[in-house]
Amino acid sequence: MPSTAAPLRPETPSTPADEAGAGDTFHASQFPPIEVMPRDVTAYADGNTGVAYVHQLDSGRPGPTVMINALTHGNEFCGVTAVVALLEAGLRPQAGRILLGFANVEAYRRFDPDRPSLSRFVDRDLNRVWDDAVVDADPADVETRRARELRPILRDVDVLLDLHSTIFGQHAFWVLDPLPRAIELARRLPVPGNRVVLDVNGMQGRGLFHYGRFGDPADTPIGLVVECGQHWQRRSGDIALATSVDLLSALGLIDRETADALRPAVAEMPQAEFRATGEIIAATDRFRPARAFQGFDPVAEGEVIAWDGDAPILAPHADCHVLIARPHPKPGGEAMTLGRRVT
Ligand SMILES: [Zn+2]
Repeated sequence: MPSTAAPLRPETPSTPADEAGAGDTFHASQFPPIEVMPRDVTAYADGNTGVAYVHQLDSGRPGPTVMINALTHGNEFCGVTAVVALLEAGLRPQAGRILLGFANVEAYRRFDPDRPSLSRFVDRDLNRVWDDAVVDADPADVETRRARELRPILRDVDVLLDLHSTIFGQHAFWVLDPLPRAIELARRLPVPGNRVVLDVNGMQGRGLFHYGRFGDPADTPIGLVVECGQHWQRRSGDIALATSVDLLSALGLIDRETADALRPAVAEMPQAEFRATGEIIAATDRFRPARAFQGFDPVAEGEVIAWDGDAPILAPHADCHVLIARPHPKPGGEAMTLGRRVT
């Protein structure tokens, strides 16, 4: 591990500005075109669970409770595409119970196409509060208030699919706890092809996907994060919906005919699994990749993969891949996520 490596953290930024890595000066022109804009979701505010923006479809038969969750981050639109499609489909599960939710509508409503990174959250990252001590701590905070609303729902969930996207890349991938039950379930699903398994113990704050029972090695519920592609591209919504449909089908909640009717066509993805090995943290404001990494790029041990000021950053181990290269990292911020291919 290089001296700059720190514990890996999925979707790490602690402020919206961190995500873009360019302070408060970034602008929409720095990002890919915005193909999808927010839609009015107020029609979905009144759910049937007693919790706003959470709906349930109960088969009345035995089977797992599966939650498809959108908008843990307010500017990640793919989950809205998927959850709205599932709500509008008139689904009647054949087993178990489907929960469909929009987590942070408060942040989603604040989207500004000229400053598209700023609506990731309102007060704090909703994907960093999932520890009961944090959830209970701040009565005024928008995100912990929402976490308190969602908490009773989450306690009964057997499988959570948390739909995310990224600002920095085209690739879709799973982010998985190193728990065999989570990895095995993701392996059964055809999209997205890439799986990133990481140790969440180094994270600053606890993510939804390993909250409570999801992260307990001795328990059975499973929390999955899928990163569906770039935040505002239409294709990311297709991948979110395809992944959701595949999961519901694989777990027996919907039949094949229903799945086929709902599932958008997405390109076949080769399956590959990576174990994250560390994070390169930028030391200067002149961090730049040595070449244009697309994500999941193999690099040779010792190869110069970036320059940080005048210092070369070398690939630190054999079978190294640059899983993620973030644009415009700022000093102290994550610049690259590295990993080793395991399958
Ligand atoms: Zn996210």
